[in-house]
Amino acid sequence: MANKPYTYCPHCGEKLEIAVIDGRARERCRRCETVFYVNPLPVVSSVLVNAKREVLLILRKNEPYKNRWCLPIGFAEADESIEDAALRELEEETEVKGRIVRLLDAQTANDSFYGNMLVLCYEVEHVDGEIRAGDDAQEARFFPIDDIPELAFKSNEKALEKYRELYRDS
Ligand SMILES: [Zn+2]
Repeated sequence: MANKPYTYCPHCGEKLEIAVIDGRARERCRRCETVFYVNPLPVVSSVLVNAKREVLLILRKNEPYKNRWCLPIGFAEADESIEDAALRELEEETEVKGRIVRLLDAQTANDSFYGNMLVLCYEVEHVDGEIRAGDDAQEARFFPIDDIPELAFKSNEKALEKYRELYRDS
């Protein structure tokens, strides 16, 4: 579904052809010669850990990965900064207003449903708001960071591994 190439040129309407460009097969318009690159989708996720060293997870309400736990996560919109996207997704899913502490992790991930994704994960601190499941979440709650359920996304697990390494001695 994601990363789906065009069939016709959105600029001039001509049917696209496959051409080898920069060593890769790509779609190109025969008339206006526009090349259509297929790029990963930008995804943002948040690691919010409380004073008890528990991490905030959400239980997904909808497909894909319904009834699986994950970090607050979602797609960046074109009209917002990537940091704002992470904080918006956090607030939509948990009703927590956060503040970015740092970029924790960046990974490419191939997802059978969404296609190729670039997943950025931010460490976020809690600024305001009672934690409540919102939007795509049926539940939002803290888990001890060393005792979490299996997550829907491998990239989330890797980001949490980064967090544990970063704060191992604290
Ligand atoms: Zn064209």
